[in-house]
Amino acid sequence: MSPLLSVRDLRVRFPLDDGVVKAVDGLSFDLDRGRMLAIVGESGSGKSVANLAVLGLHDRRRTEIDGEVRFDGTDLLTASERQLARLRGDRIAMIFQDPLTALSPYHTVGEQIAESYRRHCGASRARARERAIEVLARVGIPHPRLRATEYPHQFSGGMRQRVMIAIALVCDPDLLIADEPTTALDVTVQAQILDLLGGIRQEYGTSVILVTHDLGLVAGAADEVLVMYAGRCVERGTVREVLKAPRHPYSRGLLAATPRLDGDLTRALEPIEGQPPSLIDPPPGCAFHPRCAYTTLVGGDRCRTERPVARDVACHLAPDVLLDRKDR
Ligand code: SF4
Ligand code: MG
Repeated sequence: MSPLLSVRDLRVRFPLDDGVVKAVDGLSFDLDRGRMLAIVGESGSGKSVANLAVLGLHDRRRTEIDGEVRFDGTDLLTASERQLARLRGDRIAMIFQDPLTALSPYHTVGEQIAESYRRHCGASRARARERAIEVLARVGIPHPRLRATEYPHQFSGGMRQRVMIAIALVCDPDLLIADEPTTALDVTVQAQILDLLGGIRQEYGTSVILVTHDLGLVAGAADEVLVMYAGRCVERGTVREVLKAPRHPYSRGLLAATPRLDGDLTRALEPIEGQPPSLIDPPPGCAFHPRCAYTTLVGGDRCRTERPVARDVACHLAPDVLLDRKDR
């Protein structure tokens, strides 16, 4: 079966006064039905931009975009606004980081969910009201009938994020994109929200893209991981592969900088030295080379001059070196 979402050589550029920002620079991945893919990277790695482009939510007048983003057979990059509007909300839904700015303070939670159902799925008022209560129950909000009549400020941060998930789920989408959905929440609530997303994926066969800067978050939730750096994919694999044995030097650095819930809590965290590069003028060759501790193992000038491309790991290190160092 063909993947639900197939992204090929996606490039997203924003021309600015001081140059062109290459926010996404040749990204390819596939997402199958019912799978959860985590896209991980520091802020400014292009992970959010890539997803806005997938949804057609980038500003079309100011963005140059190429490649192919195929969702169940439709190329989203060449689709009309009308086609996109139909897909968004109904078949593709997004959950943002900050529910408080995404929700209206003036309408009850039930009204907002019902409104989304009416708009995207064309239901009657009465049916939409019932549907709102159903989805509030599904996302684990106690007393959904009562809480549907309350306003966003009457909910805690975690409960508000559940409301956002309820809105996203209301039309039973095939693809859910969650951009840093737990960043503002405390650790226990983060885990609960990820459990909820995992449960939804299992129960409804929804495909999920989880965008996060936190590699620790993806361990229990995602099936596959794609690590981004400077608008490119540097490593991809199953969660097991990438978290147990990261191969790309950047993925290793990210993991070393991540507290591990399962492991040694006394282990010192090692932040990656240096700053993420400018996307206007990224370093030549491998964009990670100014921060990489392994360049001497590659030999010559390759890291500085030649851009590494590979399906799973984009690095010039020899395959046996990449593998040998997995115990680090
Ligand atoms: Fe480091 Fe070179 Fe590999 Fe880039 S290609 S990650 S600079 S070793
Ligand atoms: Mg972001």
